[in-house]
Amino acid sequence: MVSDKFLNLLYLPLTVYYYFMKKYRVGILGATGTVGQRFVQLLKDHPQFEITSLAASDRSVGKPYREACAWKLSGAIPEYVREIVVEPIEPPLECDLVFSSLPSGVARESEEAFARAGFPVISNSSAYRMDEDVPLLIPEINPAHLGLIEVQQRKRGFSKGFIVTNPNCAVVSFAPPLAALDKQFGVEAVFVTTLQAISGAGYPGVSSFDITDNVLPYIAGEEPKVEIEAQKILGKFVDGAIEKADFTVSAQCFRVHVIDGHTASIRVKLRQSSTLEAVFEAMNKFPSLSLYSSPKNFIEVCDEPSRPQPRLDRDNGKGMTITVGRLFPDNIFDYRFVSLSHNTVRGAAGAAILNAELLIDKGFI
Ligand code: NAP
Repeated sequence: MVSDKFLNLLYLPLTVYYYFMKKYRVGILGATGTVGQRFVQLLKDHPQFEITSLAASDRSVGKPYREACAWKLSGAIPEYVREIVVEPIEPPLECDLVFSSLPSGVARESEEAFARAGFPVISNSSAYRMDEDVPLLIPEINPAHLGLIEVQQRKRGFSKGFIVTNPNCAVVSFAPPLAALDKQFGVEAVFVTTLQAISGAGYPGVSSFDITDNVLPYIAGEEPKVEIEAQKILGKFVDGAIEKADFTVSAQCFRVHVIDGHTASIRVKLRQSSTLEAVFEAMNKFPSLSLYSSPKNFIEVCDEPSRPQPRLDRDNGKGMTITVGRLFPDNIFDYRFVSLSHNTVRGAAGAAILNAELLIDKGFI
């Protein structure tokens, strides 16, 4: 049996390496919301980032964070942010980059203002996701899309600022297994049904009267996003633009009585025939990265017949692993499976933090 002392010795070089990493000062736009709180939680003790500015709506401006924020995550508000006074969503903020978790209506104007003022903007919002010159990033899948930054800066006249986005939280739950399949066999068509958690609607979100003992078959604006984002994510960066992947997605999106964790039920038609074993391997062996927030396994395919389940599997890889199960040949499409991700970690704040780590690693920040 390996002792704790021995393990600590093994981790020592890594701890020393993290200690000497350059620290970037970060601001969070929408810091008091569901995703904003997850940023605050995930950035505590992060070796590369330190929160120096928190910004939100007029309702919160001028108040210390502890007072402005209705904290909904487990544990207390981290000590280091409690007394930071919330600022308006206007540049400049005292930081080197901003994470944005603003509602899309507000994000369009504010994120551009920050990028124009020279800040890297790493956004969760849908406002810029489908703009042709804005990367829609999953670092393990499409890091080459960062080539769009130069195109964006030229086109929009940004000097050193830029906008990078992460996908819709439901799309994140199934785009990774699709990427694994597309790479090996080509994807032709996808039918997806999403079962989305309550926290995906922000706070206070869906009324308890509506969601308790119920399934809601409508999430405003969600199905169109789920039907178009994966093609951009799986697209190729060619001659300064993204050539979208050529497959069709048909989506139905439901809100279900789960706090965190979006589940997706997927049926997929492939361009080349494959075996079940090869499909399993393609997903399970899709490589992760070695950034600070990268999970050991990017995609984990489980054998247990009753998994994945949100309550049991959303925290796999500290919320950054995509868990797949129920993988079988399908009677109409080629294969079917169930895929799950943590919507406020891999689907939001964790995704944006990983994007920022990639941007630093590739020299964009
Ligand atoms: P939320 O809980 O409603 O929080 C919204 C945040 O934006 C709050 O900090 C709020 O500040 C601020 N805000 C609202 N209106 C504003 C305005 N007019 N001006 C300035 N600030 C304003 O929402 P959320 O769930 O965190 O979602 C935030 C964004 O992330 C949305 O674009 C959403 O689509 C996206 N997203 C969410 C998830 C998820 O799972 N929840 C996942 C992926 C992406 P106050 O507290 O001061 O009102």
